[in-house]
Amino acid sequence: MTEIRLSDAAALCERAAARLPAGLVFVDGALDRGDAEEVEYTHPGDGSSLGRCRLGSPALIDTAVESAARAWRSWWASDPAARREVLLAVAAAIRAATADLGALVSLEMGMPVKTAIAAAAQAAEWFSFYAGLTDKLTGDSPRVGPPGRVLDYVERVPHGVVGAIIPWNGPVMAAALKVAPALAAGNAVVLKPSELAPFSTVELARIACRAGLPAGLLNVVGSGAAGGARLAQHPEVGLVSFTGGNTAGAAVATAAAARNARAVLELGGKSASLVFDDADIARTARLSLLLGAVQNSGQGCFLPTRVLVQRGVYDEFLAAMAAAAGGIRIGDPFAADTQMGPVVNAAAKARITGVVAAASGRLVTGGGTPAGLSDGSYLEPTVLADVAPDSALAQEEVFGPVVAVLPFADEDEAVELANGTRYGLAGYVWTENLRRAHRIASRLEAGNITVNGMSALPPALAFNGWKASGLGVEGGQAGLAEFQRTKNVYVQL
Ligand code: NDP
Repeated sequence: MTEIRLSDAAALCERAAARLPAGLVFVDGALDRGDAEEVEYTHPGDGSSLGRCRLGSPALIDTAVESAARAWRSWWASDPAARREVLLAVAAAIRAATADLGALVSLEMGMPVKTAIAAAAQAAEWFSFYAGLTDKLTGDSPRVGPPGRVLDYVERVPHGVVGAIIPWNGPVMAAALKVAPALAAGNAVVLKPSELAPFSTVELARIACRAGLPAGLLNVVGSGAAGGARLAQHPEVGLVSFTGGNTAGAAVATAAAARNARAVLELGGKSASLVFDDADIARTARLSLLLGAVQNSGQGCFLPTRVLVQRGVYDEFLAAMAAAAGGIRIGDPFAADTQMGPVVNAAAKARITGVVAAASGRLVTGGGTPAGLSDGSYLEPTVLADVAPDSALAQEEVFGPVVAVLPFADEDEAVELANGTRYGLAGYVWTENLRRAHRIASRLEAGNITVNGMSALPPALAFNGWKASGLGVEGGQAGLAEFQRTKNVYVQL
């Protein structure tokens, strides 16, 4: 990294800028300055330059895979209790570094620093959780013949090298969701962060190594899409775990399938939030705005971006949403009271603005640049009502601070609208009626349902997308199993 210009925001921001890793590649326990094209990095909060950095080429992906292939065997051969202690030390080191990790995320992609620090703390929780499973790995011993004649056992063993590909919208958490269970299962990882936000994951790998993770177990190659494609094609990569959009996800799945490797896919969503007339309307309207548009500026895969509201409370709900929008503190992601930062870059702002301009529906609030914030890539939280169910806005992900609101008459219509997209990532139900909550949850075609709130992705839950939203699980015991393959041993006695 050359010519780093310190942003003139808060001290935390300056410290983060000073800590920007000097390279986007961390292989075999060492920082590398890259070998591909140089990229200019800017802070989305004010458009200021952060300096220039060189990406890693597909050849560096190969080097990283070789490093991981050397490392995983001795990791897997070591005492499970020793592996547990290493991962606990990594978790503790991440927890001690949450301010720095969070600030790097804010600097690279604009998430409000308070949220980014909380996300880094949650990432540490994922390492703690999977550290605890490291010495509790099990297998099976099915009875396949008469007693004393046959002994059969099923071992669960690592894939070896895991290729992890993540997006830019929450890099430290996205990395933890893959790296922690992959390591706990005995694998080594080559992580490819998005070219747009690579710094925090390079720092994460350095922290892990300093905490005692042996070199080669976590390699990070900040590269463009070509690096991700190479990782998906690499014959030594036993499993590809991908989080991102559907187009890149399909390319990754196809590349993995072509060599009979497994791919776990966490993809996009257009998650419905069903608001019934017995809900606390003022609270639900405010939370619908916060969760669907304000949180991470709407740049989240499982946010409730399609809000379905029962007709009797529809106007009251929209008025409450508009009132809530007026009170949102938008601005510098490093300011302590900021609720909503910029979107990731100027190109994203232009794209989202175009989506809103072309959208069907009635503009209730937002749609423009917040007053006094024309320097960074800021957008107002935007709500459109009366959105046609089959329109692009109701069917496709915006990945920006835009919520589509649609009315419904009764439970049947609400469920039909909710399930009427190609996605199936999350669903939200807002009601004070317990029986209705469970009834609706059971009818929604999505992998993650929340009633009267939103989960902060605790590591014990099994997060997964249905339909076009993905394949496979992250989190919990099921998430660990994704990083293992089975070996059956049949012993004729
Ligand atoms: P992309 O799909 O564009 O990119 C995701 C990652 O894939 C990036 O690292 C990207 O690299 C890489 N990539 C791009 N093309 C290829 C390719 N052909 N082969 C291999 N790797 C490739 O998504 P975004 O980064 O724009 O993130 C937004 C998307 O991620 C949204 O659709 C969102 O819903 C989804 N997402 C899903 C989550 C889930 O858990 N279901 C969670 C968070 C986000 P580079 O950026 O360097 O080009």
